[in-house]
Amino acid sequence: MLKKTSRWAIATRAIHSGETKHGISAPVTTPIVRTSNFTFAGTAEMKRWAEGKSKAYIYTRYGNPTLAVAEEKIADLENGEAGLVTASGMAAISSALLAVLKSGDEIIATRQLYGGAFRLLRDILPRMGIRVHHVEADLEGVDRLVNANTRALYVETPTNPTLRLVDLKKAVGLARRHKLVSLVDTTFGSPVLQRPLDAGFDMVLHSATKYLAGHSDIIAGVAVGSRAWIKKVREMMVFLGGSMDPEVAYLLIRGLKTIEVRVRRQCETAMAVARFLESHPRVARVHYPGLASHPDHRLARRQMRGFGGMLAFDLQGGLAAARRFCDRTRIFFLAASLGGVESLIVLPIYTSHYGMSKAELAAAGVQPGTVRVSVGLEDPADLLVDLRQALA
Ligand code: PLP
Repeated sequence: MLKKTSRWAIATRAIHSGETKHGISAPVTTPIVRTSNFTFAGTAEMKRWAEGKSKAYIYTRYGNPTLAVAEEKIADLENGEAGLVTASGMAAISSALLAVLKSGDEIIATRQLYGGAFRLLRDILPRMGIRVHHVEADLEGVDRLVNANTRALYVETPTNPTLRLVDLKKAVGLARRHKLVSLVDTTFGSPVLQRPLDAGFDMVLHSATKYLAGHSDIIAGVAVGSRAWIKKVREMMVFLGGSMDPEVAYLLIRGLKTIEVRVRRQCETAMAVARFLESHPRVARVHYPGLASHPDHRLARRQMRGFGGMLAFDLQGGLAAARRFCDRTRIFFLAASLGGVESLIVLPIYTSHYGMSKAELAAAGVQPGTVRVSVGLEDPADLLVDLRQALA
């Protein structure tokens, strides 16, 4: 049985971690345990389960062998003790936050967040008696906001859609100084480019819908951290009901096996796209951490092993020009989400950042004419041809 394979490089781990191999006639791929429930040999074993003394599977919402493979694999890729897979990234985020916070607690979060997470913090947590404070991605002001009720620091890096970075070491330093639980949404980075648990974060969260699964064919989430934290998040997920389906777990496992080669290629192509856009007369500004012009370029060099497959740009001519561009691409699909093999474009004001006030958009660095790009795996030269004709 191959379980943790941490001595190997990430490409090897992505394929082999968590998997059973080397038996006679053993399947090379992961079996899908397509069942909602599991049998017990007798009431003695059932009693042991009820007393918390048995690790037997009982019901797929609590756990399932296919889900367990995905959980071991992602935990190993993130250098974490334990992992949990969930029905969506938002299920992972909400279960993790509610495992940490209770009524009367306060949380400090970066303002630049995925719109769904921002709305959860803005609209739902306050209804549960949880107070939310925001800081910018540079984390200035955390010391002043902390009080006896502050329990957690929640950040996202790189941010959606303007690719600002949070200094992982600085965040961990602040969380430790004030005894806060530190959580990070690392969806845009992926474990190929950054591993925040190594920097000392308590929990890492992903929309596994994106780079982890990599093919725009599932909705999925993961949380990784210490055994103790993941036990608590699992308990919350079990009661809130955000469990993953075994079929989805299979697709997540299959996607994860190629994550290293996908993300490396997406980084290379994104750099070519960013350079092309930066030199184009109709483009006002390109947001890509790999460009020297990006405000967090030096930090990106320090804490990431590549600059990622996501970028954004602002067009001269604002929203009208951005809509014209988006309506003219032939290869780039106009579609929400990211991290798949197809290159995508969106206008954040109509997708991840819909329903936000002008002030909220300005604080998130989103212009009406900001176009977000998720670079896929098509031939880079073809992508540049498409961009050139759509901008003409
Ligand atoms: N975090 C980030 C950075 C995202 O981009 C998204 C989705 O777009 C989410 C979390 C939410 O994940 P899901 O859609 O899988 O619930």
